[in-house]
Amino acid sequence: MSLPVHGRPHDEILATLRAMRAVDVPWRAGRLYAGIYDPGPEAEAVIKAAYSEFLTENALYPNYYPSLLQLEATIVGSLKELLRAPERAAGSCTSGGTESILLAVKTARDKARAERPQVTTPTIVLPRTAHPAFHKAAHLLGLALRIVEVDPATFRADPAAMAAAIDDQTVLVVASAPCYSHGVVDPVPEIAAAAAARGIPCHVDACVGGIHLSVMRLAGMDVPEFDLHLPGVSTLSVDMHKYGYAAKNISLLLYRDRELRRYGMYSNARTTGYALINSGILSTRSGGPLAGAWATLQHFGQAGYINLVTAVMESTHRLIDGIGQIPGLRVLSKPDMCMFAVASDEVSVFLIDDAMSRRGWALQPQFAIGGSPANLHISVNHGNIGQEDAFLSDLRAAMEEARADGSLGDPGDLQAEVERIMAAPGPDSFAQIAALAGITPGSMPSSFAQINTVLNALPDPIVEQLLIEYLNSIYA
Ligand SMILES: *Cc1c(COP(=O)(O)O)cnc(C)c1O
Repeated sequence: MSLPVHGRPHDEILATLRAMRAVDVPWRAGRLYAGIYDPGPEAEAVIKAAYSEFLTENALYPNYYPSLLQLEATIVGSLKELLRAPERAAGSCTSGGTESILLAVKTARDKARAERPQVTTPTIVLPRTAHPAFHKAAHLLGLALRIVEVDPATFRADPAAMAAAIDDQTVLVVASAPCYSHGVVDPVPEIAAAAAARGIPCHVDACVGGIHLSVMRLAGMDVPEFDLHLPGVSTLSVDMHKYGYAAKNISLLLYRDRELRRYGMYSNARTTGYALINSGILSTRSGGPLAGAWATLQHFGQAGYINLVTAVMESTHRLIDGIGQIPGLRVLSKPDMCMFAVASDEVSVFLIDDAMSRRGWALQPQFAIGGSPANLHISVNHGNIGQEDAFLSDLRAAMEEARADGSLGDPGDLQAEVERIMAAPGPDSFAQIAALAGITPGSMPSSFAQINTVLNALPDPIVEQLLIEYLNSIYA
């Protein structure tokens, strides 16, 4: 752990790094159905080479590196076109969806500060399905949230309820395209129109779906309206590092016009240091993500993306059809793209998750909230293509195994114990709870079903505290 006294040779450093990877999830095998966007080995080679080419350049200084300004302008230009933004639209590249959303929230807050002095409690109106990055932005930037429950059958935002939630303190209205959890696109035309009618900005969170949905449209598939083509949409976030298949740390915030982008920027000339000017939240940032994203767009082009999206949609439909034939499982709502949630009214999804893990698959448990039952999230990407039959037959077996087990579903005594410990949390709260759940510190538990069952049953604030204790303990 300590800093070596003498430097180590190149080969040894790389060999050590590669060996450290042995414990990681083997994502190249295509059995990971969340958080991975694998463009395949050929694209990966180009993207990595481009990324390292600009790794050491600093995008804080476009004056020193006009090449980075040019790369950013080209990426923004391509995505403006793809997302049908008006000619006068502007965009900024950021490090990820969270930063794009922080910037959209800051833009809305600062616009209200400048134009609406009567706003004392700037508030965001957003559906229950919106990404936690909006909650984080409100927490960091001092805004209030007005969460609106979604339609319990489709999991789409309810436009009438959204419109009714807008008041004289609202500074931003949010819709997702799609929401991550269920993969459904909110009724953006109605929501954006309701916001526009009150003169309030509307942000469309197309972080995960902006590129995939737009390419589906280019390929002639049915896609709900969601982009900057709609006049009421003020800002839109879109991640290149998700279904744009770029290497990590690249997203964009698109602004309807350059006037609005002024509120996203920050400058400071009040210290002894250099006069600071930022188009995003970060200052120093590597040129690598920009070069990587540019190379991804050049490598695929429209035709490459259309092939990719077509294949991913075929794979998604095969999975959804197959899941529909497994008794006791159901897909929640009808997803608009390649991500969806699977629930069961008969067995605990957390047992299914464990049984799938034992077979080498990684799905993503999502807890019950606001009308959505506990479920397993699946995001299909290019790297999963070809696994459909193996996945479905293992899922069928996992379902039978979970049904035969039947042990779980009731968090029972464990929940009461966790609540007792968390009533007065301390530095070893997590260790105590982990011990109760049979988790040994420092090693990955072999079963998550029990801990997920408890988390699913606990009140949200306790889960949030517990997650912090967990993270605080693993970075010991
Ligand atoms: C992933 C995601 C985000 C956050 O993006 P990060 O790149 O993880 O910061 C925001 N919104 C949606 C819908 C997402 O799927």
